[in-house]
Amino acid sequence: MWRDQLDELETRGLRRRLRPLSSPPAAAVIEGGRRLLNLASNNYLGLADHPAVVAAACDGARRWGVGAGASRLVCGDNDLLHALEADLAELKGTEAALVFSSGYAANVGVITALAGRDDHLFCDRLNHASLIDGARLSGARRAIYRHRDMNHLEDLLRTTPSRGRRLILSDGVFSMDGVLAPLPELVDLAERYHALLVVDDAHGTGVVGPDGRGSVQHFGLDGRVPVQLATLSKAVGVQGGFAAVSADLRELLIHRSRSFVFSTGLSPMVVAAARAALSLARSEGWRRERQQARLGELERGLRARGYDVLWQAPAPMLLALTGSPASAVQLSARLEGAGVWVPAIRPPTVPEGASRLRFTPTAEHTGDDMERVLAALPTTTGEPSP
Ligand SMILES: *Cc1c(COP(=O)(O)O)cnc(C)c1O
Repeated sequence: MWRDQLDELETRGLRRRLRPLSSPPAAAVIEGGRRLLNLASNNYLGLADHPAVVAAACDGARRWGVGAGASRLVCGDNDLLHALEADLAELKGTEAALVFSSGYAANVGVITALAGRDDHLFCDRLNHASLIDGARLSGARRAIYRHRDMNHLEDLLRTTPSRGRRLILSDGVFSMDGVLAPLPELVDLAERYHALLVVDDAHGTGVVGPDGRGSVQHFGLDGRVPVQLATLSKAVGVQGGFAAVSADLRELLIHRSRSFVFSTGLSPMVVAAARAALSLARSEGWRRERQQARLGELERGLRARGYDVLWQAPAPMLLALTGSPASAVQLSARLEGAGVWVPAIRPPTVPEGASRLRFTPTAEHTGDDMERVLAALPTTTGEPSP
């Protein structure tokens, strides 16, 4: 019975396979016995296997153990978690922060705590799956606005009756389009229409804005986004999610977020590693500069070869439109043949006719690496993109 479903996925070209690495997720990886230049990870700053981060994880395990032992509300809380939360509140310029076991758990836990049946959520159509799942699980009414379309959002805010609470949910950086959310406009609309703005800055945290503080800080909006969600698993290179909020809201989330209450505290080993990685992300600005330099090289080279490129600096990823899913898959396979890992992004992740290649260079890549990537790509005749 499961076999039939798998066969159907295969027939529809939707079958996916896990690809175990035999190495850390670094600038180059070993996969299937081959060495591949890795432009597929979210390890933007190259911190996932940094020696100081690994050492911090080992020290953390020795001092605190590997598992937290229980939910934090039982006996799984510790000083180390509170120290990380103080670091994160400082990073995001908020009174407080609350750590969850992943970004997914943070998003689902926070949205379901903030909204219920009588409330209204206003969601960007291209929001991350974890925001969508949180929105669905909350039972609140949902209005979906066209991607980054502030006129559409304003129409919905104006015409939607407001009995309960109103929340606007948006990614900070849309990772399949390489663009930032129009946060100044979102803040303005949220303030004018008395809605609570929730920004999920999973892809901005550690890499966008001054000292990598994130998209909200990039736009100078400190103090104006009441709920900032993020993850420690992307630029920070470790694991865990968090909400940066007021002290009162943090207290409430401790009671109301089921993914916090009914889940074991984050491993102390991971917490120690995250603190070390966050400190490197903030202090070593050259990592962000190098990652942006690599993106700039890719952009120039791809445009010179006739590709339609999506990238709004300082977003940490760049997309090249290929049109059909088949051409995206073909180009990705061609790159892989040349020893370069660049994933093809197809529907339903992106709209029909807008398949693309997704490039995520890291601070550990060199200019020569980018030359190698570009040399493996054919020039295009410019297949029209929608
Ligand atoms: C990756 C991602 C998440 C989930 O974070 P994890 O820590 O990997 O669970 C949430 N939101 C967005 C926008 C993401 O890109």
